[in-house]
Parts: sequence; structure tokens; C-alpha cells
Amino acid sequence: MLNFTVGPVMCSDEVRAIGAQQVPYFRTPEFSSVMLENERLMLEFLSAPLGSRCVFLTSSGTGAMESCVMNILNDSDKVIVINGGSFGQRFVDLCRLHERDFTEIKLEFGKQLRREQLYEYSEKGYTALLVNMHETSSGVLYDMPMISGFCRENGIMLIIDAISAFLADELNMSELGAAAVVTGSQKALAVQPGVSIVALSPEALRRVETNKEKCMYLSLKEALKNGERGQTPFTPAVSTLLQINARLRAIQFGGGTSEREHIAGIADDFRSKIKDLPLEIVSESMSNAVTALHPLNKGAKEIVKILKDEYNIWVCPNGGEMADKVFRVGHIGYITKDDNQALIDALHDMQKKGLL
Ligand SMILES: *Cc1c(COP(=O)(O)O)cnc(C)c1O
Repeated sequence: MLNFTVGPVMCSDEVRAIGAQQVPYFRTPEFSSVMLENERLMLEFLSAPLGSRCVFLTSSGTGAMESCVMNILNDSDKVIVINGGSFGQRFVDLCRLHERDFTEIKLEFGKQLRREQLYEYSEKGYTALLVNMHETSSGVLYDMPMISGFCRENGIMLIIDAISAFLADELNMSELGAAAVVTGSQKALAVQPGVSIVALSPEALRRVETNKEKCMYLSLKEALKNGERGQTPFTPAVSTLLQINARLRAIQFGGGTSEREHIAGIADDFRSKIKDLPLEIVSESMSNAVTALHPLNKGAKEIVKILKDEYNIWVCPNGGEMADKVFRVGHIGYITKDDNQALIDALHDMQKKGLL
């Protein structure tokens, strides 16, 4: 099977071997030191400001998004949510559920957030902004320096869902002045699903400390307290955390930049090979993580199904209104240029048979 979805993605043999081991007991000094190293390396790769912390929650990425909405924001916040697709919508739904005072900036599918759309909300008393750095559903990578500048000028706390952008695109928490950055295990970290990660700046840490605790399982306060000694409040996804450690260590040797260059290389290779196929790129500004494509002649759903059933190649379907218009090809995970070629060959074969 070749997996070009956007997560869970394919894992290296080293990572898979860790998943095949018996799960070790975790209230041990050995596991604590693994966790402390995970925290240190995450903060390093994110270029987090001095005094930042990072916690690991046993949940999918949405758990970390929800923990930010519950633990960092409070009832007096006025929140802007950038909604350019299903992940932006998820922040909207979370703000609604947790009764946050929020305004959404709704974007057309595949479109970049424009400066004037955002600056309309200048000097209006907003205190926080939630954005999915890469809106994985449409493949749009937002203009983060622009968003960060807006937040700085307006004294707005910036919370970034970088679940699919971490390691794939340039992300410097200090430069962006971000209060919190969220990611997850099953995207470019390329390990099993099950762990989400929240990095918190000193500003966000103060918020968590003073806000009233709203939940137990996703409490960042509890996670931070336990994390001081390399532990978690409850049984974590131990194997996934060990896999994360192996990946972070491997990336450490190459450096975060070379991991990003590798992903960018896979993305560029794929994008250069589709030029003569009846596929149109739908996003105005792309992440290295994903290419969202609109097939010109056939329905997207059928293409996804044929690739899976006839070629054993998995690409990522879209949901909702876009289900038959768009499918996505991921460039994260244990993918090579040869794998790209196998997908391109399959698409050419489909074209020859009148299926594309
Ligand atoms: C994958 C992803 C998530 C998290 O989805 P889960 O299914 O909860 O892991 C959130 N935001 C973005 C931008 C994503 O790509």
C-alpha cells in the first residue's frame, strides 16, 4: 500500500518497529527522561521563546485544539477565527461549544486571507486569534507573517494550529510571537496517531495558570504540572510517545530545516510531474505538506476509489461540498520520489483508460 493521505501517514521501519514492541510501563525515570527530551526538542524545533513549555496529550489533534480553547482563552476574550475550510470550521465549532465570544472570517475555498479582510478587525477590542496555519482541507498556507504583524499591532494573542504545517513549512514561534502552537503525531511527525502536542509561551502559561480549570482530561494545568517531572496525569499513548522520540532525535541530527527541505523536495517533485495531467491545483498559496487538486474531466470521488481499489494507492478524499470536486495528495510521511512516480504512473494509466 502506498499512502499519500494527510494522516495517518506512512512511517519509517524504525518507527514501526517501536510500535511492534511490548508497551513499557511508564511511571519510570527512563520514560520521564524520554518525555523531557521530547519537550526540549519540540521547543527547539519550534524556536519557542525562552520560558516556553510543551505538553503531550493523548488525543488526536482536535484534543489539543479544544484544550487551547478551554484552557488558554477565557470568558472575557474576544476572539477572531480564520475559517477557510473544515479545520477553521472546527475552531468555530469549538468556540461555539465553549461559549467564547468570537467572530469568524469566512474565506472562499482555496483562497488566501487578504490583508484588508483581516485589518477590518483592527482596533475593535479583539484579544485572541485562532488560525490553522495550513488549512489542510483546501491546501492553503496562510500568510503567517502578515497575521502575526496584525496580532502584534493590535495586542492580540495568536494561537496557531500547525498540525499539518509543523516540520513541513517554516514555523518560528518566537518570530511570529505566537502564544501557543498545536501539532499532532500522525502528520509530518510521521508516527502513529494518538498524541497531540501543545507548545505554550510564557504568556499562554500565565493564562493557563490564572484561568479557571474547565476540564480534567484536557487540562493544560495538570499536563504542565506533571510534565515538570516528565510525566503525564493519565496513561499516555506510550508507544506513540516513544516513536515521537525516535523521530525527534533523527530530525535533530539533520536539523528541522533539512526535514522541511526533504518534504518540500517531495512536494516540488510531485507538482512538476502533474503538469500534463488534467488536474488543476486549487489553492492560492500552498504548504509543502499537501497538494489539493481539482480533476478537470472526472469526479474526485471516483478517482480516489479507483486509485485505492485498482492500484492500492491511497490519496485523500475531501468532505462536504468538495467531495466530488477535490482530492488531495500528501507529501508528508515516509514517501520517496519513486513513490511519487508510482502515483504519477497510475494517473497516466487511468488517463489512458479514460478514467481521469
Ligand atoms: C489533521 C489536522 C487536525 C487534527 O485532526 P485530528 O483528526 O483531530 O487529528 C487539525 N487541524 C489541522 C489543520 C489538521 O491538518
